[in-house]
Amino acid sequence: MKCAQGENFSKGELQRFGNIELCPSAGILNYGQGLFEGLKAYRKHDGNILLFRPEENATRLMMGAERMCMPSPSVEQFVEAVKATVLANERWIPPPGKGSLYIRPLLMGSGAVLGLAPAPEYTFLIYVSPVGNYFKEGLAPINLVVETEMHRATPGGTGGVKTIGNYAAVLKAQSAAKAKGYSDVLYLDSFQKRYLEEVSSCNVFIVKGNLIVTPAIKGTILPGITRKSIIDVAINQGFQVEERQVSVDELLDADEVFCTGTAVVVSPVGSITHQGRRVTYGNDGVGLVSQQLYSALTSLQMGLSEDKMGWIVELK
Ligand code: PMP
Repeated sequence: MKCAQGENFSKGELQRFGNIELCPSAGILNYGQGLFEGLKAYRKHDGNILLFRPEENATRLMMGAERMCMPSPSVEQFVEAVKATVLANERWIPPPGKGSLYIRPLLMGSGAVLGLAPAPEYTFLIYVSPVGNYFKEGLAPINLVVETEMHRATPGGTGGVKTIGNYAAVLKAQSAAKAKGYSDVLYLDSFQKRYLEEVSSCNVFIVKGNLIVTPAIKGTILPGITRKSIIDVAINQGFQVEERQVSVDELLDADEVFCTGTAVVVSPVGSITHQGRRVTYGNDGVGLVSQQLYSALTSLQMGLSEDKMGWIVELK
């Protein structure tokens, strides 16, 4: 789908996957005017295809578009386009339990612009790819290192929206961490350098007894849809959940730590390293609470448990 600045997106069309043409002075190439989303379609045992809260991705894209001076498809247009793309690619959806179809919506300033300004034209497209289960043999713990020099986002910046540049900005710290054997980086706030923000592509939670705490959303953290869902699932299961500042000291003193995101679902953290000190968590890195929440969310997303919250969209 295409649209000029100041106008609305018109109906889209299905196209065979392939390269797209862009002018060298397209807004996305020169000034990073781009946003993306990520969601998954699962195959249910009865053959149906399930989406998890796609209207939440649509709403997040709209909020991001407002921040990035871009027009955005409506929630209805977004969800319809996702459904049409998934149905057209049904043969790529793995069988139940064998993975999912990852869906990548992309909104970009595709019009030519030389002086710094919003692009005159925008393109919204969706492509898909089958992906395996993140954890092939049950849950596997990840090992994080706290980043004390580089930041993912700063107050007033674009950390709270899913803009492409946020991901280029984390590559340096992430690559350095991976080279040292860590799975990823945990970022701190850029002001006091004391409070947790998130990981390069997922949100973080800590567990202490019956209490589950996650950093509050205040512009520098991506409002994850898995994060929001896990908060509700945890409350329904009787946990006390708080969204507030979480200090590194509280992190290192936690019983369990886990991350949430579309790709990782619920990912237990086996260890955290901060300024050379390594702290380990859970039973062999997989805490019981992380395990319980992972099972609750994945069985819902795969259609194995009752959808009491009305989060599942069935495509057939
Ligand atoms: N934080 C960042 C920076 C991310 O890229 C993602 C993945 N979209 C998340 C958190 C988790 O968001 P969600 O649960 O919506 O996938």
